[in-house]
Amino acid sequence: MAAIGDQGGRRIAIIGAGFSGSLLALHLLRRCRPEDRIYLVERNQNFGRGLAYATGNPNHLLNVRAGNMSAFPDEPDHFVHWLQALPAEQRAEIGEAGASTFVPRRVYGNYIQNLLGDRIWREGQSRNLFLLTDEAVALHRDAGGLSLELAVGRRYSIDHAALAVGNFPPTATASGYFGDPWNPGCLENLAPDAPVLILGTGLTFIDTILSLLDRDHTGKIHALSRRGLLPRVHAAVSAPWKYEAPPSGQNLLKLLREVRAIARTTEETGAGWRAAIDGLRPHTQRLWQEMSLGERARFLRHLRPWWDVHRHRAAPQVMARVEAAIAAGQVEIIKGRIGETTRLDEASLVHINLRGDSGIRELVVDRVVDCSGPRSDATRLDQKLMRHLLETGQVRPDPLRLGIDVDRQGQVIDAEGKVAPDLHAIGPITKGTFWEIIAVPDLRLACANLAARLLRS
Ligand SMILES: Cc1cc2nc3c(=O)[nH]c(=O)nc-3n(C[C@H](O)[C@H](O)[C@H](O)COP(=O)(O)OP(=O)(O)OC[C@H]3O[C@@H](n4cnc5c(N)ncnc54)[C@H](O)[C@@H]3O)c2cc1C
Repeated sequence: MAAIGDQGGRRIAIIGAGFSGSLLALHLLRRCRPEDRIYLVERNQNFGRGLAYATGNPNHLLNVRAGNMSAFPDEPDHFVHWLQALPAEQRAEIGEAGASTFVPRRVYGNYIQNLLGDRIWREGQSRNLFLLTDEAVALHRDAGGLSLELAVGRRYSIDHAALAVGNFPPTATASGYFGDPWNPGCLENLAPDAPVLILGTGLTFIDTILSLLDRDHTGKIHALSRRGLLPRVHAAVSAPWKYEAPPSGQNLLKLLREVRAIARTTEETGAGWRAAIDGLRPHTQRLWQEMSLGERARFLRHLRPWWDVHRHRAAPQVMARVEAAIAAGQVEIIKGRIGETTRLDEASLVHINLRGDSGIRELVVDRVVDCSGPRSDATRLDQKLMRHLLETGQVRPDPLRLGIDVDRQGQVIDAEGKVAPDLHAIGPITKGTFWEIIAVPDLRLACANLAARLLRS
């Protein structure tokens, strides 16, 4: 089959146009040559939003302050300035548009879409950027070089491909069980007084509680997780602790003791424990990379739930609503694991194995919504492109099944352990190598670096 894209210039395909893919495209557009072509492929209509910023609910807020959400690491105030330049009627939804504001996530999606739109319409870069609304299903390597195949069957000759496929979709939905909490349909046709069970008590649980409260849901909401830990709340900004001697990741227990000691100090000085956690940020990727595989596995098993709730905090106004619903008894947090589930006529009978051998509890709920977070094991994913890449040995899962294996530059490592110079990955699927690579402040840097490397190549 003849492939499109043989007219000269560099040809780069970016698969996935959530935050990472869109930002990578923006960075490439800033410095590409007139004859270069960037194919940005997205299976949804919503370029620039991805999973995180597609929500239409204005109460679903960013969990990072506006001042730290600029798309460009070298222009830290870019997002705040963009907010402040919005017409008054659009700013009404945000309130005070300052650096410490927690903005609705859909507004952030508008920001990224707007940046893409500006490049195409205002800067006239439609000759460089091609938005392809389709699913990427395969990458072929033959005598003609590398080519990308889309679901419609069209092929594009390319020089490089960047996988920006993001968070793997949650599990499938079955009768009474909703595996995709981000699908607005998951709360449709739910009686206002119906009992609901939410699996997980993290940030996605909070989104779902807010959506239920916004619908005036009065029914009981049970939320289940192994430890029943809730995300901590953001407090007034205080400067991150400056670790004088950069901590080492070689001994997890020692690291834990060190961070706890710093947190005690910052509590005593009034800066609060958050300063100790935030101060780790510049070191986190290195700490992860210094850990042996065994230490990383130990971290995931024992420390991850604690790390997640302290590191990924919720906006105060959001958490206040959730805490009020808990105090009123509408939301109940249960510690345990889900056991056998039986579908009754209109409801589900769920057995819960309570934590610490405290027995089994039975719940009858109308709906179970799985908010335990996106999946990360590529081998269990029912998605054409990833299946194809695994089957053809172009990618392999990382040892801890957090995504796919990449080197420290984000270049994909194939099934034989060789680095593919023309295949790159960015975003949550690279967690196995970087760990801290899911939030905007880390992703924007990774995008800028990858764009620079691609343009040099
Ligand atoms: C609910 C939620 C809220 C979050 N809130 C914040 C926040 O407030 N602040 C923050 O810093 N971070 C937040 N994050 C972290 C988030 O992971 C990043 O901010 C960022 O959005 C990740 O973007 P991404 O493009 O890598 O992945 P995604 O957003 O998952 O985008 C990947 C895109 O690739 C597309 N795609 C996948 N496979 C294919 C294919 N084969 N062909 C074509 N298209 C494909 C998908 O349709 C999707 O649009 C949040 C994450 C979630 C899930």
